[in-house]
Amino acid sequence: MIIESTLRPENALSRTTVNAGDHYIGTVKQGQTLRILDLEGNQAADTLFFSADDTAERYSAMDTVREQGAVYLTTGSKLISSEGRTMLTLTADTCGRHDTLGGACASESNTVRYDLEKRHMHSCRDNWMQAIANHPEYGLSKRDITHNINFFMNVPVTADGGLTFEDGISAPGKYVEMVAEMDVIVLISNCPQLNNPCNGYNPTPIELLIWG
Ligand SMILES: [Zn+2]
Repeated sequence: MIIESTLRPENALSRTTVNAGDHYIGTVKQGQTLRILDLEGNQAADTLFFSADDTAERYSAMDTVREQGAVYLTTGSKLISSEGRTMLTLTADTCGRHDTLGGACASESNTVRYDLEKRHMHSCRDNWMQAIANHPEYGLSKRDITHNINFFMNVPVTADGGLTFEDGISAPGKYVEMVAEMDVIVLISNCPQLNNPCNGYNPTPIELLIWG
C-alpha cells in the first residue's frame, strides 16, 4: 500500500549515503524510524536485521511471511524475528512492494546462474562479510548471514508458483520507512549485481535517514 511519510529529511538525526555496490552496518534504537531511499531508482537494498541485545535473534523471512499471510512487504508489514517478536513495522512506502523470497547474490550463485567467469564479481554476500569483518564490535559472524529482505526488488511469484527477477518497480526518490520495535542492528548490501535486472544493470546509491 502506498503511504507517504510525514517526516521531513531536514529533521533527521542522521543521513547516510551508501554508494553503489557498497555496504552499511549500524544500529536503530527502539522507537526510531529508518527510511531507505532509492536515490536514482531501480536499486535493490539487500537487508538483514538483528536484535542489538542478542544477535542470535534475527529477521526471519518465514515467520514474517506466515504471520502476515503474504509474500511481499509494504506499509503495515511487521518484520518478525526468529523468536516470533516484531522487530520493525513498515510505516510508509512509496514503492509499494518489497521482496522476501529472492535472497542475495553471491559468488557461488553468480557462477551457477550466469557464467564461471562471473565468479569474481562483487556480490551482496561479499558486502555483508566485509561489513562484519570491518566492524567486529557488532558481534556478527559468517554464521549470522542468512535470508534477507530485498527492499525495492521486484521478484513476482508466477501463477504456477515460480519466481522471476523482473525489472524494478521502484523509481528515483521512492522510499520505504519503518519504525524499530526493539534496538536493531541493520546490515545492508547496496546490491552490486550486474547480471540480472534487479538494479536495472546499473547499481546506484541509496540514502539512509534515521529520525529519533
Ligand atoms: Zn546482490
